[in-house]
Amino acid sequence: MKIAMISEHASPLAALGGVDAGGQNVHVAALSEALAKRGHHVTVYTRRDATELPARVRVGRRLEVVHVDAGPARHVPKDELLPYMGELADGVARDWGQRPPDVVHGHFWMSGLAALDAARRPDAGYRVPVIQTFHALGTVKRRHQGAEDTSPTERRWLEPGVGRSADRIIATCSDEVFELKAMGITTGKISIAPCGVDLGFFSAEGPAAARKRRHRILSVGRLVPRKGVDLVIRALPHLRAAGFDDVELLIVGGGDSGVLHADPEVRRLLALAAELGVADQVSLQGQVSRAEMPGIFRSADAVVCAPWYEPFGIVPLEAMACGVPVVAAAVGGLRDTVVDHATGLHVPPRDPEAIASALALLLGNPDLRTELGNAGQVRARTRYSWERVAAETEKAYQLAVAEAPAGAIPMEGAAL
Ligand code: UDP
Repeated sequence: MKIAMISEHASPLAALGGVDAGGQNVHVAALSEALAKRGHHVTVYTRRDATELPARVRVGRRLEVVHVDAGPARHVPKDELLPYMGELADGVARDWGQRPPDVVHGHFWMSGLAALDAARRPDAGYRVPVIQTFHALGTVKRRHQGAEDTSPTERRWLEPGVGRSADRIIATCSDEVFELKAMGITTGKISIAPCGVDLGFFSAEGPAAARKRRHRILSVGRLVPRKGVDLVIRALPHLRAAGFDDVELLIVGGGDSGVLHADPEVRRLLALAAELGVADQVSLQGQVSRAEMPGIFRSADAVVCAPWYEPFGIVPLEAMACGVPVVAAAVGGLRDTVVDHATGLHVPPRDPEAIASALALLLGNPDLRTELGNAGQVRARTRYSWERVAAETEKAYQLAVAEAPAGAIPMEGAAL
């Protein structure tokens, strides 16, 4: 197949771990590569966010990334990108010319708008089946973030519109299927394909980073409040009270170390640690390159993922692939990936005491850590290889091609 991916803010080439960069970058990069390995020709379209970027970057024999001029050629937070989606769609359609792809796959709701726009131009003479992966849903974000949600208001109606207009939706976890149904999307056109993990790279074999104390707890991810890193810091005094005081919490992610301490979220976390008297146990490493991640995972006794909500969450998969047990809030995708008392421990969301109890159980029981870590590796290998995810995604593409109507269907509520 000739496959077009659109990922408006998350370039597969971008550095990981910044505020607007994370799982989606990894997902688009790895999925595209795995599809190309299966013999498909994949072009990823992303917004040009720096002047010096070349128009096209060939990543492999059948994989390339195209930087489309859409809005200013500098970083723009994703919540401010909506006005440029028309330009993005124009650039994509221009690149297709008279040779459209077999399918176009939008990542995140705004890329879905651009995908529908490019795929269904009334005078184009073609209609390309549109597949959509939301990665995150505005309904869920609003529920948890309320007034803090900086998404544009239009997301409220445009996102469900994308869901209803796309030929097929790929949900990454079962929780998302319920959310999509609640948005009025017919279940018949929803496929499930999770995110995957690079198993050649994330594995239990290999060196582990050095640690400073007897036990190491690890938190990895963007430093935004909804990731709940403060809850892990709040768990430390409870852990100390339970007799575990030689414990360090390593926090990885956020800006690079030069600018890290200017970040208000970093200041908030450090102030909290100082207030709770655990500052000496907490270290923030800032953004870490992908190459360093496996060694860091292997250095930990447990990885804690304590988000308020999580559309999927690649970090627990990476931890499992490295043989490390995961303490996970029982929310969103973490309910599918982490199996309670099998590959990790579930805790209720926003509950530092529960995090501390789960950690105490793991830190006090090396055999349990090994057992859960081993089971995590098996689960990651058998269910979450990118090869398997690409095969499931390919099935969704085939269904979309088979089911797509021949005539042009106007995009519902187009308001670009
Ligand atoms: N990551 C990284 N370096 C960092 C912080 C994070 O490489 O300093 C990677 C992490 O290993 C994972 C991704 O960024 O692959 C985060 O994905 P996840 O789905 O957990 O969270 P998101 O940021 O998409 O909400």
